[in-house]
Amino acid sequence: MTRQHGVRPHQLLVVCLLSLVSFPASAQRLPGGVTPTNYTLWFAPDLEKETFRGRETIAVTLAAPAASITLHAAEITVGEVTVTDAAGTQSARVTLDEQAETATFTVPRAVSKGPATIDITYTGILNDKLRGFYLSRANGRKYAVSQMEATDARRAFPSFDEPAYKATFDISLMIDAADTAISNGRQVSDTPGPEPGKHTVRFAPTPRMSTYLVALLVGDFVCRSGSADNTPIRVCATPDKLGLTAFALAAAEQQVTFFNKFFGIPYPYEKLDIIGVPDFAAGAMENAGAITFRERLLLADEATASVEVRTDVARVVAHELAHQWFGNLVTMKWWDDIWLNEGFATWAANKPVAAWKPEWRLDVGAAAETQIALGLDVLRSTRAIHTDVSTPAQINEVFDPIAYEKTAGVLGMVEAYVGPEAFRKGVSSYLEKYATGNAAGEDFWMEMTRVTEKPVNRIMKSFVDQPGAPVLSVSSRCVSGATEVTVRQQRFVGTPDDAGAARTAAAQTWTLPVCIKTGSGEPTCTLVTEREQTLRAPGCGAAMVNADARGYYLTEYEPDAVAALATRTPALTAAERISLLGDEWRMVRAGRHDIGTYLDLAAALAGDETPAVLKDLAGRVGYVMAFVANAGERPAFETWVRARFRPALDAVGITGGIGDSDDTNSRRGTLLQLLESDPEVQQRARGLAEGYLAAPATLSPTLVGPVLQVAAAGGDAALYDRFMARVTAASASPEDYYRFFNALASFHDPALVARTLAFAMSPQVRSQDTPVLLSMLLASPASQGPAWAFVKDQWPAIVAKLGVFQGVPGVVNALGAFCSTDRATDITAFFKANPVPEAARALQQATERISACAAVDTRQSPPFARWLAARR
Ligand SMILES: [Zn+2]
Repeated sequence: MTRQHGVRPHQLLVVCLLSLVSFPASAQRLPGGVTPTNYTLWFAPDLEKETFRGRETIAVTLAAPAASITLHAAEITVGEVTVTDAAGTQSARVTLDEQAETATFTVPRAVSKGPATIDITYTGILNDKLRGFYLSRANGRKYAVSQMEATDARRAFPSFDEPAYKATFDISLMIDAADTAISNGRQVSDTPGPEPGKHTVRFAPTPRMSTYLVALLVGDFVCRSGSADNTPIRVCATPDKLGLTAFALAAAEQQVTFFNKFFGIPYPYEKLDIIGVPDFAAGAMENAGAITFRERLLLADEATASVEVRTDVARVVAHELAHQWFGNLVTMKWWDDIWLNEGFATWAANKPVAAWKPEWRLDVGAAAETQIALGLDVLRSTRAIHTDVSTPAQINEVFDPIAYEKTAGVLGMVEAYVGPEAFRKGVSSYLEKYATGNAAGEDFWMEMTRVTEKPVNRIMKSFVDQPGAPVLSVSSRCVSGATEVTVRQQRFVGTPDDAGAARTAAAQTWTLPVCIKTGSGEPTCTLVTEREQTLRAPGCGAAMVNADARGYYLTEYEPDAVAALATRTPALTAAERISLLGDEWRMVRAGRHDIGTYLDLAAALAGDETPAVLKDLAGRVGYVMAFVANAGERPAFETWVRARFRPALDAVGITGGIGDSDDTNSRRGTLLQLLESDPEVQQRARGLAEGYLAAPATLSPTLVGPVLQVAAAGGDAALYDRFMARVTAASASPEDYYRFFNALASFHDPALVARTLAFAMSPQVRSQDTPVLLSMLLASPASQGPAWAFVKDQWPAIVAKLGVFQGVPGVVNALGAFCSTDRATDITAFFKANPVPEAARALQQATERISACAAVDTRQSPPFARWLAARR
């Protein structure tokens, strides 16, 4: 799955949501002893009534005789149930446990050991909660679509809904005569009836797979067809968006061919469909052979899409495709090892895309992803990659940057240590060994250790089982032509305040490869296993202690060494610059370095030609403006920012040529946003935005988003009305819709902020998009105060619209952008009175982020004032 904070229902099922709030589903594991081998599933959705009928036969094997069988079911009305074994067929009594989300079938005579079949008829609802078998709407009609991961297959059919219970699936659907259906298997028949006005579509049996990978889609979807290595591939959408499917299809064709070779195992399914779904909670979902997507991440016209959207589409398609091997073919035994799915897919996604579009510099992208993980991992409330989970709410909360970006970063570090080809072989061997089965974390690292003959197990174990990230404090000296680097490792905690936690953290050590780059030669790598170790590298000069930024650790340099690295020859790579900026920022946040060290480093890199580097530092300079500089200091700091960054903008030009490279336009966009309070920049952006409204071809697609946002920041009601008209009009492409939609959250005028807040809760905004708008408003200093007041005031309506499972945790997470202890207290008190167990971890992390920000302000204010005074 690809994450996306955004989700959930409109009016429906308030009762159910309330019951979830007061009694969190405590779904324990199934008792075991009964193993499914095949499901034969028949569905008859009724789009008008928003319900469906189901018939199901489950072939099972009993390990011992049993008079009752328990499986999962939720929001399902079970009709007749029979159980058949060698001795005959018996009717079963059905007992439902709503809290555990289970159904128990009890028969008079114990079912004998060995094979048996369970026949079930039932009905369910096509819900508005974007989970299970649910309802989507577009173009004045309804669709029935599905999202089973993590624990929602049980809402579509009674099932052994745990990832280790793999089985084959024979699926058929009876649907309206004019509609089509898509599922995991290839379509094998399409026959009229049997009911009037219907036809029945049957799909080929699937290979063994987990219940969370079942896909069902019904509606008027249309597809563009292609193929790769004899696998038929289609990209499908609602009919109005068929024209936007070619780019994703080209990406998928290249990627299937690439992965077939890379993994050394052919794509495991008979066909591949990729479908854009109008209402979709996550970013995308890797259902076996039938991948579903949020439209924004799939449907784009290559010629008019920004580089950001093109990259997103290619990377997310690659992520979901990688899952066909990592997750679908080999599946984690339980959700505590979700990293085996998500970390691998995140790591693998960059491979085909880097080969396809080298100009996108995905090595730099990987370094930026590691920074996302570190941002969470420096909190005391972070979690270990392997975390015990049992309830659906706990399972839902571990789809986070630890499972995705941290794991990908750790895998990248091990890959750099053992060498890419050895690592690829280890991965391939692991997939081969566990194909169609299940594996746990140690199965992976033991296989990698065997294949590479290096202590991968020790490295992986120390990073998977322990929370947090190590920081290496380094001091280096030149000794007869070589650099001697002493490194001391400890856990980095950005908010050290409680002594007990600090002691626990201090006891942690990791086994990690450290690669040092001195002169221009190859990095020298050593496995660090001790708390303190001295390493040697040939040559002297400023030593980069995280060569190529492949290590998952922070480095604490002496402040002088930071300045030397920024200007060293040969220059640091772009990935290394991102790593250095990230490290230095965290030293500032933790109070280990003064803020001036970071700002001087940022200024030295103002003209950086890599968009990701510039974006990174611009965000932090903006943070200093919002949360460190006080009202009295702000004008002087703005003057400093303009003096340092305006020349970089002038060098690329505010407008630029329509034919400029993607990189140039990305940098231009970032600089415009950083300098949005500059009156000339503001005025020019307004002109460009108006020009774009009148004639879209006048502006480079990559520049449109930033220009609209900068114009909005200084915009008035007249401009707001024009943006809103574009949001509410039928849109040519998802990207164009979201450009204007996102820009609504950038207006600073309080009256316009209020309008956007009201709009977010209106029926015009899909429940999948409301959290996006609320999160942006909560994150921006210009709107976060009124946005939080609105959220508190509208809380029951927000919970009802978004649902507690994905939308609400996203909003809670966004509260972490506040920066005062009063606000943290207020937020804590609010959620004490309005508890959301499904967002427990999100709340803990958000309040810790707020306290950390407030502490930065307190700690860095005096050094900031001194630094600023020295630069007036
Ligand atoms: Zn995923």
